[in-house]
Amino acid sequence: MSIRLRLTAWYTGILFVTLLIFSSAVYGFVHLYTYEELKQRIEQQADKIGFTQGAVEVLPNRSSAISLEEADLYVQTYTFYNGKLWQSQNMAFSGIQFDVPSVEKALNSKQAFKRVTVNGNSFLVFENRVVETNSGKLFGWIQVGANTRTIEQTLDRLQSILIMGSAATLVIASTLGLFLARKSMKPIGKVTEAAEQIQKGTDLSVRIEYDGPQDEIGQLIGTFNGMLERTEGFYKELEDAYAAQRRFVSDASHELRTPLTTIRGNVDLLQKMWEVAPGERADMDEATIKQISFEAVGDISDEAKRMSRLVNDMLSLARADTGQTFELDPVPLQPLVEEVARRAHFLEKTAEWHVGELSVLNGVYVEGNKDYLQQMLFIFIENAFKYTPEGEVSLDVVLYKGQVGLRIADTGIGMDKDEVPFIFERFYRADQSRGITSGTGLGLSIAKWIIDEHKGSVEVVTRRGEGSTFIVWLPVVFAPPLE
Ligand code: ADP
Repeated sequence: MSIRLRLTAWYTGILFVTLLIFSSAVYGFVHLYTYEELKQRIEQQADKIGFTQGAVEVLPNRSSAISLEEADLYVQTYTFYNGKLWQSQNMAFSGIQFDVPSVEKALNSKQAFKRVTVNGNSFLVFENRVVETNSGKLFGWIQVGANTRTIEQTLDRLQSILIMGSAATLVIASTLGLFLARKSMKPIGKVTEAAEQIQKGTDLSVRIEYDGPQDEIGQLIGTFNGMLERTEGFYKELEDAYAAQRRFVSDASHELRTPLTTIRGNVDLLQKMWEVAPGERADMDEATIKQISFEAVGDISDEAKRMSRLVNDMLSLARADTGQTFELDPVPLQPLVEEVARRAHFLEKTAEWHVGELSVLNGVYVEGNKDYLQQMLFIFIENAFKYTPEGEVSLDVVLYKGQVGLRIADTGIGMDKDEVPFIFERFYRADQSRGITSGTGLGLSIAKWIIDEHKGSVEVVTRRGEGSTFIVWLPVVFAPPLE
């Protein structure tokens, strides 16, 4: 059974019980009140009757008889010893007669109200015995009655009205209730529809449109839409990550294929050369064979080195991808940068190496990891040398607004402005660099990861043919720890 039917059934059931109680109470109250009032009237009138109670018979006195007829009451008296029956005029006229009990019964009965039916008419009759004032002997019997037809009719009508009214109310209320329940449940249907749509397909951009009030259903839809938005975000992130990973794997295999092809080519060459005994070769003498072999081995060694560099870089990035982080401690920058500057002298280079004033770093600490910071600086410096065939490469430092800037500038080949956003991407190599210099395209990705882990940032200024400047900004820990 659907919620809306259940709700309507409950609602109608409760209304039915309420109406039943209410109608019974109204009917009961009106019934009681009307009969009580009639009883009071009869009693009052009966009290007013003055008896003419002589030797002859029991009779109401004249004035009370008139008032009784006006009051639309029927009065009957009976005198036991002579069997004389007296009736008020209206009673005699309509031919009605109330039953009179026998003397024995009358002796034992007290004054009481009775419901009697005479000639198909219902009456409420008050009856009492009349006793002789002096002797206390039973003398007669008096009955005062009122026709209850009108009251019964009114009560019947009231009953019909209550039954019909209640039934009509129930029908209207249940129809309206069903309509309202359907209306208020409609948005839930939309939620289900949207959920089904998502379950069947992969479209997470579906949202439930709702412009109603922010009631329970409004809140439910809001929450559902919020949930969809978050799920869509997660899904997109996941998709992006998956796509990046696929790209990474395909790029990595592509990059590994080149050195492997070179190595295999050289190995094949060596194999072919050495299969033939040195003396049997007509085209090459021993010195040439030695020379070619030496070059091939050199190539193999270079490519092997390149591969191991590539694998190391990929390993670093793979570690970074798994969310692996490193310990951060306050690191004094001066000795760290000085060491990098000194070791940079031994790098393979064709440009001059200039180091600026590093004494400003005295007492400057950053929250970081010494090894990773050095690795990051070497990536920038090696790149600068690599892309500066002639000219100079310099390293200097600036302090600005609680940050320290490590600036590596070169006067090399530079880059186009539109290439800058991509250089930190994995395997990206600017067109100009491809073929001219060897590289994996992973160095700057690793540097960027190290900078991010240090909560720093990097700034690039470059122009094609004029050189590039990279500034790495790191937050400074002003108070060096006590040692
Ligand atoms: P690579 O191994 O190719 O150097 P990187 O990730 O270190 O890979 O650099 C990505 C690309 O950014 C390089 O291929 C090069 O095109 C460009 N690049 C990086 N540093 C410089 C620089 N100092 N001068 C000119 N181009 C640079």
